[in-house]
Amino acid sequence: AAGAAGTGTALRYRPALGSAAERRARLREDLPGAWDRGELSVLFQPVVSLGERRVTGVEALLRWQHPELGEVPPAEFVPIAERAGVIGELQRWALTHAAAAVLTLPCTGAPLRLGVNISASHVAARTLVRDVAAVLQSTGLAPERLILEITEATLMSEGEHVAVDIEALRLMGVHVALDDFGTGRSSLAHLTRLPIDVLKLDHAFVLRVDRDPKARALCESVVSIAGALGLDVVAEGVETPAQLGALRAAGCGFAQGFLLARPMRPRELVDVLDNGAGQLWPGLVASR
Ligand code: C2E
Ligand code: MG
Ligand code: MG
Ligand code: MG
Repeated sequence: AAGAAGTGTALRYRPALGSAAERRARLREDLPGAWDRGELSVLFQPVVSLGERRVTGVEALLRWQHPELGEVPPAEFVPIAERAGVIGELQRWALTHAAAAVLTLPCTGAPLRLGVNISASHVAARTLVRDVAAVLQSTGLAPERLILEITEATLMSEGEHVAVDIEALRLMGVHVALDDFGTGRSSLAHLTRLPIDVLKLDHAFVLRVDRDPKARALCESVVSIAGALGLDVVAEGVETPAQLGALRAAGCGFAQGFLLARPMRPRELVDVLDNGAGQLWPGLVASR
């Protein structure tokens, strides 16, 4: 058993996977180096311009294929990476791979924008500016094409360096999106003060927009304030034509969700880009 460790036996203690704590311990043990072992990949979910009816960007979403446990979702392993102190390495891998993959996609109009999620502890660690600059340099991606998706809690966090770093990134030409707006403590008043270019309406908010008059009114206010501030609004997690219709009626400019396209590999994305929105998304056409 584990007690025998230290006697020189080659057996490494492997906790059983009976409990959530044991699963976390196992994931934490296995995560470092997963990127070097080829276990991580990046999927891309198209972001569609509702006005132009075409894909104008993609969001990079990390996947970890664990050799024994199968697919582990980012909501589970990103917090583990943060606590294990490997979030910087993980983010550098994700940024580099996402940027390189996007550069292989066909150009069908303006160059596709790339959204990459950035975790709070990467911002806190203060390597973000250096890491992003290095990735832009090594891949050749134009800074204007990169959108760092950051939550409000991270953008508002204490410590003046966060604001300084975000400002430095924006001076480089990189864009910043406020992710998951409508969850947590999001407030309309904050919007005027945040250093952002894009606002992403959370799925939880989008879910109610076609049925709940209050959600619809809030959506209209957000879109109108965002417009006055020069921000693009992207609705996340759009699943039904009714939701899409309500978002269009509220003046929302962009949408993302299973109705339009699931997160996919670059190869599949090429087909989507070649086919165009009209044929692929009857829901988008119907809601016009
Ligand atoms: P997020 O940035 O809000 O990403 C959107 C999530 O919604 C993704 O989940 C996506 O697959 C899912 N989604 C897309 N369309 C729909 C829809 O129509 N309905 C529903 N119900 N869901 C939809 P995913 O890929 O599991 O990622 C979850 C979260 O993990 C992301 O939330 C993001 O916060 C985080 N994440 C993903 N990749 C990275 C990364 O590279 N770095 C960091 N730090 N976090 C990441
Ligand atoms: Mg995101
Ligand atoms: Mg989001
Ligand atoms: Mg979300």
